[in-house]
Amino acid sequence: MTFASRFLSRSYRPAEPVAELVDSPASRAQEARRGLLQRISEFVETHDLAVTAGNLATICGGLSGSHPELAQALTSREIAGEPIDQRWLDTLGRLDPEGHSRIAGLEALMDKLEYSLMRFAQTARSAQSETSDHRGALGAQIDAMAEVELAPAAAGELARVIDLSRAMLARVEQVEAAMARSQEETDRLRENLAKARMEADVDHLTGLPNRRAFERRLVSASIEARAKGEPLSIAFCDVDRFKLINDRHGHDAGDRVLCAVAATFNEHAGDACFVARHGGEEFVLLFYGMDKEAARAKLDTIRRAQAARQLMNRDTGQPFGRVTFSGGVAEVTEDADTRSALTRADAALYRAKEDGRNRVMVS
Ligand code: GH3
Ligand code: MG
Ligand code: MG
Repeated sequence: MTFASRFLSRSYRPAEPVAELVDSPASRAQEARRGLLQRISEFVETHDLAVTAGNLATICGGLSGSHPELAQALTSREIAGEPIDQRWLDTLGRLDPEGHSRIAGLEALMDKLEYSLMRFAQTARSAQSETSDHRGALGAQIDAMAEVELAPAAAGELARVIDLSRAMLARVEQVEAAMARSQEETDRLRENLAKARMEADVDHLTGLPNRRAFERRLVSASIEARAKGEPLSIAFCDVDRFKLINDRHGHDAGDRVLCAVAATFNEHAGDACFVARHGGEEFVLLFYGMDKEAARAKLDTIRRAQAARQLMNRDTGQPFGRVTFSGGVAEVTEDADTRSALTRADAALYRAKEDGRNRVMVS
């Protein structure tokens, strides 16, 4: 019960028994909400986790029971006494099938909107050209009628018909102008939609494609690879000890380090490799036409290039130290279930971290 509701119960409804108020559905819901917030906050503190939107969504899904798989995963982890740290939460987030279907749902909506706009533009265009033909024919007809010489009685009738026809012609011209305007608007909407789609695919910090773009690319690349009978591999990469960089140099400097790592990926990826920022300090890569060994070798080249770079905090002149990453590689085409490659790559990344970081492991 809030202070306000307690106050109200005393000053305006003194006769009402307090027990009834405490037990009312509204106060029970309020208690439950407060209890959930309390448990989320204790969970964050106990496991020393960062307060980020992603973490809160995962923890809330698990603790509130709104996401049964998350609840199950949290309970099993606690019972097993294994650490609930940022890396483990990231793993849950990475494999989140709901996130995947949300992206697919949004994608389907955008496809439908694009299709409707395209159909509307086509209809408007053909209606406009038909109207313009009719307007031309009607105008010529009116001019011809106006030339005809008739007896005065009939001429009066004809003049009325001509006036009516002119009014109709003016109306047709108005409709035509309105059609042209709506067609322009449709074209602008289609352009905006195409721009929004492109922007929705970009990670605004690093400029790399984002998780949404990666999810779509993974689906299309795996269909294509299976059809061609070619291998396709995937890698999850995670910057090592990144929290220390944030702690020592601040979040903004941490952001610049992420951009520098993204630049290394971008520089070395080449055409046979699609690289995206998956979120946080994690990057994900697709290796076209490469089995897991070839992908491992390629990723190891990128890893060495990154490890050899000297990064400096331009605000303070302090070196960031060696900024490295670990990677886990899996072959998508090794299994009929494309998404199982994510789990295998994630497990390989976990081993790379366990084995000392700054290395690439294959599933
Ligand atoms: P590990 O080698 O085990 O991966 O250690 P770590 O410190 O990199 O791992 P952890 O996952 O505990 O920490 C990642 C940190 O990255 C926590 C979070 O605050 C930070 N982070 C996530 N996204 C961003 C971002 O966009 N910018 C910055 N500056 N920090 C971020
Ligand atoms: Mg991480
Ligand atoms: Mg990390």
